[in-house]
Amino acid sequence: MSWTHGLWKTVARARGAFGSPERPGLRVLGYHAVGSTLPGDPYGLSTPAEAFARQMDLLSSGRFGKTVPLGGAKLDGGAEIAVTFDDGYRDALTTAAPILARLSLPFSVCVTPGLLDSGRPHLSWPELKELALVPGCEIGAHGLTHARLDGLGAEDLARELSESRRRLEDALGRAVSVMTWPHGAASRRAADAARAAGYSRAGCSLYGVNGPDREPLLLKRTEIVSFDDERDFAGKASGAWDWFALRQGDPANR
Ligand SMILES: [Zn+2]
Repeated sequence: MSWTHGLWKTVARARGAFGSPERPGLRVLGYHAVGSTLPGDPYGLSTPAEAFARQMDLLSSGRFGKTVPLGGAKLDGGAEIAVTFDDGYRDALTTAAPILARLSLPFSVCVTPGLLDSGRPHLSWPELKELALVPGCEIGAHGLTHARLDGLGAEDLARELSESRRRLEDALGRAVSVMTWPHGAASRRAADAARAAGYSRAGCSLYGVNGPDREPLLLKRTEIVSFDDERDFAGKASGAWDWFALRQGDPANR
């Protein structure tokens, strides 16, 4: 664990002790890999399988709200929580999906078509099709090449957004209407382009909960990492870490 993460834990726990600012709304949890060892992973992007299973047990208790797929969120101010995965790691199929399916929890896997078939640890196209058939699994896009989309010109931006969606829809034979922003890099302009490209919901990397007034193409998302123990997870799922957004800057202001 990095020293900074230890510091954030301390702050979050102190805030939790004084009562976290619990507001209802849609909370989106952001995961990457589950149970795999990623080469060089200083950010803790791979959550251990046992920890993930315990986290999903906590979600299925309903304590943090109704678990919804990103595209199925009502975003009406009621307590909802979504489980999302970025990048398209193979362990979404082999490790995470069986845990989620056992608990009948919906989930959203946002994949980068340009990374599929690039070899392990990513999914292949046939594996993605298999994953899409797991009950409760929603497939979304995560850019075409994993470029930062907020800095692209209009033409390249439109291509990343439309082409990723088209490739996924062609392969899966079903509509793709959600996405997550690669590197969390988004802006108002990028959100407008995503809407024009046919998306209805998109998650960024800003911590926090989403009320009815939140731009649905710039949904706040709380990242879960391998350093999080059960207490950290419960704190993140209930808002004790939302102060972290102060360090981040809201893409809705860009
Ligand atoms: Zn990514």
